[in-house]
Amino acid sequence: MNFPKLLQPLDLGFTTIKNRIMMGSMQTRMELIDRPWERLAAFYGERAKGGAGLIVTGGYAPNDSGVIETGAPVFDNEDEIENHRLVTDQVHAEGGKILMQVLHTGRNAKIDQPVGASDIPSRINPCTPHILAGEEIEQIIEDFANCSLLAKKAGYDGVEIMASEGYLINQMLVTRTNNRTDEWGGSYENRMRFAIEIVKRTKEKVGDNFILMYRISAIDLVENGATGAEIVQLAQALEQAGVTLFNTGIGWHEARIPTIAYMVPRAAWRFAIRNLADNVNIPVIASNRINTPEVAEDIVASGDAAMVSMARPMLADPHFARKVTDGEANEINTCIGCNQACLDFIFTDRVTSCLVNPKAARELEFNEAVAIKGNKTVAVIGSGPAGLSAACTAAERGHNVTLFEAGSEIGGQLNLAKIVPDKTEFYEFIRYFQSQLDKFGVDVQLNTRVDATTLGDKFDEVIVATGITPRIPDIAGIDHPSVISYLDLLTGQATTGKRVAILGAGGIGFDVAVLLTHGKSDSAPDTDSFLVKWGVDTTMSEPGSLSKAGPKFPAPAHEITMMQRKPKSLGRSLGLTSGWVLRAELDAAGVNSIPGVSYQKIDDDGLHYSVNDEDLTLAVDSIVICTGQDSNNALYNELTGAGINCRLIGGASEAKELDALAAVSQGMEVAAAI
Ligand code: NAP
Ligand code: SF4
Repeated sequence: MNFPKLLQPLDLGFTTIKNRIMMGSMQTRMELIDRPWERLAAFYGERAKGGAGLIVTGGYAPNDSGVIETGAPVFDNEDEIENHRLVTDQVHAEGGKILMQVLHTGRNAKIDQPVGASDIPSRINPCTPHILAGEEIEQIIEDFANCSLLAKKAGYDGVEIMASEGYLINQMLVTRTNNRTDEWGGSYENRMRFAIEIVKRTKEKVGDNFILMYRISAIDLVENGATGAEIVQLAQALEQAGVTLFNTGIGWHEARIPTIAYMVPRAAWRFAIRNLADNVNIPVIASNRINTPEVAEDIVASGDAAMVSMARPMLADPHFARKVTDGEANEINTCIGCNQACLDFIFTDRVTSCLVNPKAARELEFNEAVAIKGNKTVAVIGSGPAGLSAACTAAERGHNVTLFEAGSEIGGQLNLAKIVPDKTEFYEFIRYFQSQLDKFGVDVQLNTRVDATTLGDKFDEVIVATGITPRIPDIAGIDHPSVISYLDLLTGQATTGKRVAILGAGGIGFDVAVLLTHGKSDSAPDTDSFLVKWGVDTTMSEPGSLSKAGPKFPAPAHEITMMQRKPKSLGRSLGLTSGWVLRAELDAAGVNSIPGVSYQKIDDDGLHYSVNDEDLTLAVDSIVICTGQDSNNALYNELTGAGINCRLIGGASEAKELDALAAVSQGMEVAAAI
């Protein structure tokens, strides 16, 4: 496929952006004040080298009250210019353009005393905000303008005024968070004043030949948020005030509707972007769950937006734009929307990275290691995520790699993930690995079991990635006909009756519960059903675009009880930013959760168990075992016993809590070291 619209330059009059692909803003936690700037510069430099037309940094606060958290960066004086220059110089040296995001978080700030339009705390930050006095509001407007001027001095090509996701500017706009009665509250004109003044005064400071992008909340998805008409009214006023480009945000952080995780269909929010694009005369940039060039091209070609923002997809593949340009779209490492190493890391105080690309934000460490050429013969045994990652990295370095797989297809546990409803993005990860195996000439031998004799001394290096086997718990009656392994269920070798108990509530237990409530499906999530399910008003006439009817979850296909031995609530091991979605869906489906269980036996009456010393029986037709995994390291033991020196990686080395993220990362690290 060609991508003519996506690759078209965007002429802004005073400057031209070379294509319609923007790397959207994302906090990386490399910006924290005690982190080395070189690492951040290498991160953005790599994305500029990868051809992104425009890059937007993570947010920099214009003053101390605007930070995301204590220790987050503020840009309020000239001392920091030199550091920012490391970033802008590196991006410009690679032929890119970069904007700095100016962000005031308002009541969301994780600091001792956040500020806000009113004293209404946020769902995600219970601290009651200090109500901003009129002069404090004036000062923040000035701070936005000053910060933007500092960005100009530091060599940025423009700024993005962050005004979506429920941050301060958004908070001033809607009655949900603003019940003021002065000139900053009450009528919509008054509530818009803060945003408009920021744009006007910033424009005065930075002049005409500097990109002034405003990230507008294209749809709020919270109670008492803006309507579509109000969003358009604001956009038109901002255009008059001097905005060059609109970027878009979807939903406030505190919204109870998923907006970017894998269960959100690709480009699900384009209707909200279109609402803007149809009503302003400057370019609008689409965002959220746009992860392939095909979807991006379609958005630009249809006129829904002039440009497309992709933040996580540029973590997953910094060379996304270059590959589109060079006709290598099939080699793009696609963001699968898992959030596991990007947002979940950020919200747990770690530097961001990426499940499908552990090199992200570790450019200084990895790029050099992978660049060192090798010429060894390498055998990789097992083609799950760890083995694939090791084989591709070793081959990329020039080693002569043979990948042995006992099954008939590559992918290992990834092949199970892709079967779970809404997780079809995992197909992309396997497609990417296949493209790399082909590109770097890995000799893939499917349906091939190896042993010490067949391997002999043919290889300089042997990497064993034989994965895991599902754990069978020691429960009396575990061989009863009602008992099914998750593996057999997911691969279609077994089915369940209507009433099902799921033993084990880790990621797999939840995946199985989703499969049993939704029913099996090979197709990607459907946008219309998704929007109805979560109660989105696509006419955007209701406040926050929440439909009057509310969410409408379909009737579940099974009656499900999930159990675990730990006495805590179920689902705590799930990802922070996607786990709540699964729990909400399963709650809506009436899934019964029982923690603190002691399993006793399984027989024709069902599952016998106790909770708090009370003996109980759950009458069920089927019991699905999702009780974790054990390492499959028999081959490793055999090979080392025969004197073959080998390296053990992935689930075969450590099954406990091993997930694709750790497996891919470990595979890459091992292959980078040989
Ligand atoms: P897991 O996360 O380790 O969960 C295993 C579950 O089985 C736990 O609920 C545990 O709870 C129970 N269990 C463990 N040993 C048991 C035993 N001997 N008898 C009875 N119950 C036992 O494993 P998983 O669910 O198979 O997932 C494997 C890996 O893939 C994990 O790292 C997971 O994070 C990852 N994964 C993640 C996702 C996601 O985040 N969406 C999806 C799929 C897989 P109790 O000990 O309390 O009973
Ligand atoms: Fe995308 Fe997952 Fe990587 Fe985040 S960790 S960028 S969601 S693939």
